[in-house]
Amino acid sequence: MKTLTPNIYKLEIDITFKCTLKCFNCNRGLSIVDGREEENMSLTQFSKFIAQSIENQHLWKQIRIMGGEPTIHPHFDEIVERLYLYKTKFNRNLDLIVSTNGKSKHTKQKIEYIKNRFPDILIENTAKENKYIDNFTLFHVAPKDLDMYDNHTYAGCWATMKNGLGLNFSGFYPCSVGGSIARLFNYDIGIKNINEININNLVRMYEQLCSLCGMYHNIKVDPDRIESVISPSWEKLIELLKKDKLVINRF
Ligand code: SF4
Repeated sequence: MKTLTPNIYKLEIDITFKCTLKCFNCNRGLSIVDGREEENMSLTQFSKFIAQSIENQHLWKQIRIMGGEPTIHPHFDEIVERLYLYKTKFNRNLDLIVSTNGKSKHTKQKIEYIKNRFPDILIENTAKENKYIDNFTLFHVAPKDLDMYDNHTYAGCWATMKNGLGLNFSGFYPCSVGGSIARLFNYDIGIKNINEININNLVRMYEQLCSLCGMYHNIKVDPDRIESVISPSWEKLIELLKKDKLVINRF
């Protein structure tokens, strides 16, 4: 199987893992494990990200601000402002996107704020009404728990090519979904500096991340069984997290 190459000029930033919806089979694991305050990206981390982008002349083509529900991050406004300033001063061709579930009154107010203040930021509002999302994949069914993936070499999936890299409080990953797997399974493998982003460093994470990721096999949720389906590797994680809530090193 051909190893897929991440798009290193697109980025999805999970600024928080807290969410107001927590859909079944969420590909950040939020239907089975709540996001925590200490997993929010701080403003200091944001400044560091922007400084590294400028210093290394890494010209992002697209940055999507997401989570969790990004609008409930306590510093959401400042984060958007800082990214917008970076765009206007250093990277004018950057497409900035905010991805939101559009659900609460607070979120709706934030959407209006962005529309008025930053009309060229694109809002992707999924306008989800409830926790069941038709067509989600069974994210918590790990390929490594399925016989068909015995002795398989993991090679990434469409997400890293189409959506690009992921960044969260713990660093850069080949995809945002993988970043979430690393935070949950306590894999301290995130890249901490943009100058270390290269294809080799990214694809070497596939084995650990894709082997746990339901996006890999792309088996869709059964409409007759809408709640999250969980395979043994994920069940083991849930048991571990009941006892031990470690947080991996920060970016
Ligand atoms: S971790 Fe998941 S989303 Fe990321 S490349 Fe692997 S299969 Fe795709």
